[in-house]
Formats: sequence, C-alpha cells, structure tokens
Amino acid sequence: MIIRKLFSFEASHIVRNCSSERCKYSLHGHSFKVELFLEASRLDAGQMVYDFGLLKGPLRDLFDSFDHAFLFWNRDQKEFQDSVKKFSRRWISLPVSPTAEQLSRVLFLLADAVLRNTRRVNGDGAAKVHSVILHETATGYARCFRKDAVGRSMGRIPLKSVVFSDGIKADWPDPSTWDKLLARRPFVSPVPEKQVS
Ligand SMILES: [Zn+2]
Repeated sequence: MIIRKLFSFEASHIVRNCSSERCKYSLHGHSFKVELFLEASRLDAGQMVYDFGLLKGPLRDLFDSFDHAFLFWNRDQKEFQDSVKKFSRRWISLPVSPTAEQLSRVLFLLADAVLRNTRRVNGDGAAKVHSVILHETATGYARCFRKDAVGRSMGRIPLKSVVFSDGIKADWPDPSTWDKLLARRPFVSPVPEKQVS
C-alpha cells in the first residue's frame, strides 16, 4: 500500500547548461510542490502505513529549508556563489544542478535518510520511501524512484555535500537536526499510549 503526503515551498534557482535561455542565465523562482509517497506491506499498531504526524518533525523541517531559499550547484562560478552567500540569508548549496530531476532525487534521499534514522516505536518499521514527485510548475514535474536516487547511472549524491546556510539552520526547531542525521544519531518518536489492546 502507498500513502502520499503533500509539501510545498517557494524557491529560486538558476539552471546551468540547459537549453532554455531563460533558465540558464536568469535567477528565477517557482512554487514547488512535493508529493512524498511511502509504502509498506503491513500496517503499524495504529493500522496505518505511517502516521502523518511523524512527518512533522525533522522531515518537515528539512523540506521547509527549501522555502524562500536560493538553490545552487556547488560547481557554479565561485564569484557567483560568494555573492549569494553574502547577500542572501537562506541558500542551499547542492552537489548537483537544482533541476526538478535532481531536486526530486535530493528530496528522496533526505526523506529516506530521516526515515531510516527514526527509531520506530509503533510497529511502523516496514514503511519506506516509495517515490518523490517534485512539481516545478503547474504542468511539469519529475518523479524519483529508489533506483533513480541511489543508483549510479545518474551519479551519486552524497548527503554530506548538501550545505544548508546558517540562516536556514537557525529556523529549525533543533539547529542540530542536520548534524544528527549525518552522524546517524537517531530521531526518537514518543511511544504512543495504546487505547485498544
Ligand atoms: Zn526554473
């Protein structure tokens, strides 16, 4: 069974090396929508694939990092990167170009890492990320499946190469969220009280 949770963020980018003149030479923004699909072959103690409430912690904080942020490729010109860092508080440096395709891969890996790093306490250990759809516009999206995210054919994306600005980290309820994830210090959910046994 598959469940879906919708997120959204407003972000800007510049897409180098593409065919469109508007995209590769001009900073511009989109109202992105993210569809996160989780799958499981059995249900948890609450008879759910995964409690949507559990997605309100580190996963939502990381996805929200993209809101009002400038997203750039860490291989762009240094002078350009330096000016972004100097004049914008919220930015994310990525080891890949911020295309819809690559952003869907990054978001898949972020969600997958958060789920794998969350100590499951309600029989929900079977839930895992199935896919991520990133809508860049009302008419265009990219969908990433596990083989796209972790396979070698599209290049590896080491999460430690993703850099969130200090301005973004300061907005997280727990500013050490990213450090915990990279160090694999587990996120712990409270054990729910059971009303029916
Ligand atoms: Zn664009």
